[in-house]
Amino acid sequence: VDNPYQHRDLNAEPIILPLGKVVCVGRNYLDHIQELNNAVPEQALLFMKPSTALCYLSSPVFIPKNHGACHNELEIAVLLDRSLKNASLEQAKNAIWGYGLALDLTLRDVQGELKSQGHPWERAKSFDASCPISPFVAHSQILNDQPLQFALQVNDELRQQGSSENMIRDIASLIVEISHSFTLLPGDIVLTGTPKGVGALQVDDKLTVSLAGHFSLETSVI
Ligand code: ZN
Repeated sequence: VDNPYQHRDLNAEPIILPLGKVVCVGRNYLDHIQELNNAVPEQALLFMKPSTALCYLSSPVFIPKNHGACHNELEIAVLLDRSLKNASLEQAKNAIWGYGLALDLTLRDVQGELKSQGHPWERAKSFDASCPISPFVAHSQILNDQPLQFALQVNDELRQQGSSENMIRDIASLIVEISHSFTLLPGDIVLTGTPKGVGALQVDDKLTVSLAGHFSLETSVI
């Protein structure tokens, strides 16, 4: 089955890059580490979602039935357009096509069970459509070193608010570190961690996702 998702820019034009893997970073904001009583990791905590996890954030967001709580984790998503292996900081910066927002949907009860058994997290994090993703803003449209500020409202109440300034590891450093473990390819996406405010999504919730100065989009949960 082909995934109908394609990377898109703010004008809804397709970005001509393949669909690849999504490399995700856990525990990259101190406020979120504290809300889940986790420790600051010495190395970046990495996991992946397959390309079958990708879907449009503007469509309804599907949450799986009968698997316990499905939590929102709104994150800055970075789309890459070059291959990177053991990259330098400069190479990492030059490989960024642009930035968007993604929900790293997480089956929190399933994850808790897996964590307690010391098992990998894929069943909780990598299911089909577990990575709804926005259009991407081209790197050239972001002024030099301007922080990316983002927010999630659920039923008109602010649930998450973050800024790239508050990351423990910044975007380029994360890409460098990832490229020392996995070759990154054009079309791959890096999710950069979630700030505090994770919580269970409910059917019929109305979501508003915004990247300050660039876009705001609405969707619902089914
Ligand atoms: Zn996450």
